[in-house]
Amino acid sequence: MQDMSRIIHRDLRAPPPVAVRAKGLWIEDDQGRRYADACGGAAVSCLGHAHPALVAAVRDQVGRLDYVHTGFFSNRPAEELARVMLTDAPAGLSHIYFVSGGSEAIEASLKIARQYFVERGEPGRTRFIARRQSYHGNTLGALSVGGNMARRALYDPILIPASLVEPCFAYRFKREDETEEEYGARAAASLEAEILRHPPGTVAAFLAETVVGATAGSVPPVPGYFRRIREICDRHGVLLILDEVMSGMGRCGTLHACTAEGIVPDILVVAKGLGAGVQPIGAMLVSEAIVDAIRDGSGAFQHGHTYLSHPVACAAALAVQRELREGGLLERVAPMGAVLADLLTERFGNHPHVGDIRGRGLFWSIELVADRATREPFDPARKLHARVREAAMARGLLVYPMGGTIDGRRGDHVTLAPPFTVTEEELAMIVERLGDAVEAAL
Ligand code: PLP
Repeated sequence: MQDMSRIIHRDLRAPPPVAVRAKGLWIEDDQGRRYADACGGAAVSCLGHAHPALVAAVRDQVGRLDYVHTGFFSNRPAEELARVMLTDAPAGLSHIYFVSGGSEAIEASLKIARQYFVERGEPGRTRFIARRQSYHGNTLGALSVGGNMARRALYDPILIPASLVEPCFAYRFKREDETEEEYGARAAASLEAEILRHPPGTVAAFLAETVVGATAGSVPPVPGYFRRIREICDRHGVLLILDEVMSGMGRCGTLHACTAEGIVPDILVVAKGLGAGVQPIGAMLVSEAIVDAIRDGSGAFQHGHTYLSHPVACAAALAVQRELREGGLLERVAPMGAVLADLLTERFGNHPHVGDIRGRGLFWSIELVADRATREPFDPARKLHARVREAAMARGLLVYPMGGTIDGRRGDHVTLAPPFTVTEEELAMIVERLGDAVEAAL
């Protein structure tokens, strides 16, 4: 069957196996091979596969009201999901906008930020600032603010102008003579320096992943970094957009990762775990001030897609929210994350090629290095992260390996993002298989 595939797969020379069913932690392919999905695809399947409550919610909704266009109607699952999501949203985030995924939600956030300033009479605010070693999606707007240079290189000439400043990545960039707080202040200061490099009143927004995902491997910020970022944005009238497409919806132990940072962004972007993979859905939560400016100005957000507020996607996401809250699954993330962290430390804590073990909640990574003392990455030509993925798949394990860019060089990390339903025994099996895969790949 694979030889016949006419899909433009990610790798045109090596089509992937064909998955045929999935349940809980496990995915099975058409050859009968079973894989423990320890990364939920890309931190998506947060409640495991085919969770009965989510399957029931989708079945029920698709038979009741499959689709209506938002030009004509709102719908109950969308209205209820908005109510639930905003009930305990970070203070000040008063409205929500449902799209089909992370990149769409990022695009919407860039556009609403732009429109907000136009409505306020500050049309000169056109510049976006983001960080190196970040990923905000693959559409042109999202790529423009992305720091995954490999993904954007081909499109650079057609991207919107944006600046990239320092990431907050202590393992790589904190100096030995600095405290974490001093490092956080230095990393944040690069944003202020960039704002000041441009004429006053020309920067619209700063975007950052609260906990960095794909490009660096579950990197939490150092304490205090985001409080400084918030202050800098406020000082210069710049909006703060936090991208929690990967790190939000409970993945890091709190529903929103920014709660742990003690700050509230002006726009918060979520996706992946929002629909738990059962349906494609993303969202942006927006501050009252932004919505007010548009309501009192032109009256309409100049943006839209065919599948906004899709009833079936919203019904699935609503069921996810219920399982997280009433089903007690959100509460499992921190304790099970602690178990995972201990297992990783036990297995890799003294490994000569594991430089860092980092993460938060059920979002953990190991960083593979050629030299643990100097933190020198492996030669990119070895494509070690890809070899780990292959070795893991051969052992019936799915992990999310990426090569990030460290000072222009590639680095290798392997991320685990198991479902919140995962058991201690399953975590032990995952770490054991990962250990074997790393040894085989090295
Ligand atoms: N933002 C972050 C932090 C992501 O990790 C991703 C996807 O990996 C996106 C945005 C883009 O989301 P999507 O792939 O759903 O368009």
